Amino acid sequence: MEIALRLKDEKELKEKPTDESKLGFGDIFTDHMFKMDFVEGSGWINPRIEAYGPISLDPAAMSIHYGQEIFEGLKAYRRKDGKILLFRARDNFLRMNNSARRLCMPELDVDFVMEALKRLLTIERDWVPKSKGTSLYIRPTMLATEPHLGVRPAKEYLFYIILGPVGAYYKEGLNPVKIYVEDTYVRAAKGGTGEAKTAGNYAASLFAAELAKKKGFTQVLWLDALEKKYVEEVGTMNMFFVFEDEVATAPLNGSILPGITRDSVIRLLKSWGIKVKERQISIYEVLSKAENGSLKEAFGTGTAAVISPVGQITFKDKDFIVNKGVMGELSQRLYNELVAIQYGEAPDPFGWTTVVC
Ligand SMILES: *Cc1c(COP(=O)(O)O)cnc(C)c1O
Repeated sequence: MEIALRLKDEKELKEKPTDESKLGFGDIFTDHMFKMDFVEGSGWINPRIEAYGPISLDPAAMSIHYGQEIFEGLKAYRRKDGKILLFRARDNFLRMNNSARRLCMPELDVDFVMEALKRLLTIERDWVPKSKGTSLYIRPTMLATEPHLGVRPAKEYLFYIILGPVGAYYKEGLNPVKIYVEDTYVRAAKGGTGEAKTAGNYAASLFAAELAKKKGFTQVLWLDALEKKYVEEVGTMNMFFVFEDEVATAPLNGSILPGITRDSVIRLLKSWGIKVKERQISIYEVLSKAENGSLKEAFGTGTAAVISPVGQITFKDKDFIVNKGVMGELSQRLYNELVAIQYGEAPDPFGWTTVVC
């Protein structure tokens, strides 16, 4: 499929942020976006790169009423020599196809969307910031556009990719976060849509997250929906615990989002000869090990923060301090290694990065 290019004139281009130290997250977008449409019977059609701007949707578009919306989140990084790198991008599109299947949405041709992303990045390459820790965030998105009221899978969809420069997640070093163990509300239940990156999961998480924020916590630690006992995720990150004899994270059993950072951390740890287990982790195990000192470190993993150290876990008004509230050695080593691979500053033994342009 030929990608049509309808690029802006040079003089219409937006002004790029001049002070990269002030870059935040999610508010600035580049000049162009990739788009294509899906129509049942024809498949994906009309791929194009055009000016970034509002999309027009019928008020009866089925995504609005019945929630068929999925997305991905990944980053492009600028290497010291100016080249632009992608980190495990194919894995994001493979995961998007898993989300699509779960939501009865059409799958993407992974090779084609990889090509489309590379074309878009090449056009927008000047938008990839240069300072340490900054990157270009990439948000592939798919939604049902067919105008119809009545619950069934839609027959028409829009897929697009938007880009925006984002700042260093950690401006003053990696400060451990305080997390609140949520034992009333749940994020996802086994058999539900927790393993899909779909909008509804985030809508469902807001209420508990706001309550936790009001109490002064940064993130919610989610427990399993059935027994409210096993640790699932923290905020929108996967969760790891460093115990005396092993590193543990929850297994991918249906309610957990299979994070690409999670997988990278597991593979790095194994390559370092560190024992890592995907197993059910009871919150009571975590808290008793926090109390007796055999919980050494705890951290969340995700594309935005890479590694987010946890310094305090609060359960039913009782605070448990992890590693004296400072970032642990292993968390720091994982962070340093992953970031070095992403920015092309360390060897990439797993073949995770690709040079785009
Ligand atoms: C995206 C996401 C993650 C992290 O996935 P990465 O691929 O590592 O960025 C974890 N949990 C949830 C709920 C997510 O949406």
